[in-house]
Amino acid sequence: MSEGGASRRGFFRDLASAVGSAREVLAPDAPPPEPPPPPPDFGGLADAEIERYARQLVLPEWGTAAQLALSEANVLVVGAGALAAPVASYLVGAGVGRLGILDPDVVELSNLHRQTLHFTPDLGVPKAESAAAKLRFLNPDVVIEPYQVRLEEENAGALIEGQDVVVDCSDSFATRYAVNAACCAARVRLVEAGVLGLQGMVMSIKPGRTACYRCAFPVAPADAPSCADAGVLGPAAGVIGSLQALEAMKLVTGVAPAVADGFLQVDLASAGFLRVHAARREDCPDCGKL
Ligand SMILES: [Zn+2]
Repeated sequence: MSEGGASRRGFFRDLASAVGSAREVLAPDAPPPEPPPPPPDFGGLADAEIERYARQLVLPEWGTAAQLALSEANVLVVGAGALAAPVASYLVGAGVGRLGILDPDVVELSNLHRQTLHFTPDLGVPKAESAAAKLRFLNPDVVIEPYQVRLEEENAGALIEGQDVVVDCSDSFATRYAVNAACCAARVRLVEAGVLGLQGMVMSIKPGRTACYRCAFPVAPADAPSCADAGVLGPAAGVIGSLQALEAMKLVTGVAPAVADGFLQVDLASAGFLRVHAARREDCPDCGKL
């Protein structure tokens, strides 16, 4: 047993003992106190894992079952930019089993204000490799697989095959629709998102069970500006990416209901969060036949 694991278990024993002693001091004439609760059962986890994940393991909503479910999950992050930074950092930090991250581009100076997995010495390095290097430092127990490739209709099915959850952190509607179609065809759960300026949205999709991205947005807006044209603030991408990471953890573990059959519309200028309903469409080309 590692020193950390021993001290953690010892901490829970000492805490239970201290509670019992305090009751005796404060109420000497009271009936005998209830026996202290047993220490939490972290069966199936190594001592180093108990220490690393201690702050989420003690959450009643999380616990050992969710931790083990996450440790067996394969997650693919599409894109290694502003949304992917919190998504990949939180999933790897929390102990996902395997994380694939794909991006065709290299790190540019204009990325660094918001893409927090890339640093100035990474300029010119493939983004997937740059992100993977930081993520391996963060948690060497997670298998990190970088791919310098662009997800397109032609390769989407092969890239998504075998994934438990896909998190789309791309910045184009063409990629979003390709990811959505491939995830629907393979019945792989998906977290979609987008951010621009101080606005964003997040949506979880369980193909065949809840509305898909194309059900909610049948066609791309004709004149949608890009981040390069319209701009984006780093913290706005951080908020949306963090929400995406949380949705992925919900889909993997079931600890809380995901934002499905609709999306969460976020306006960070007014600090407004609006849940927008979207129903499945029978004529949806991506999920209508599922
Ligand atoms: Zn659909």
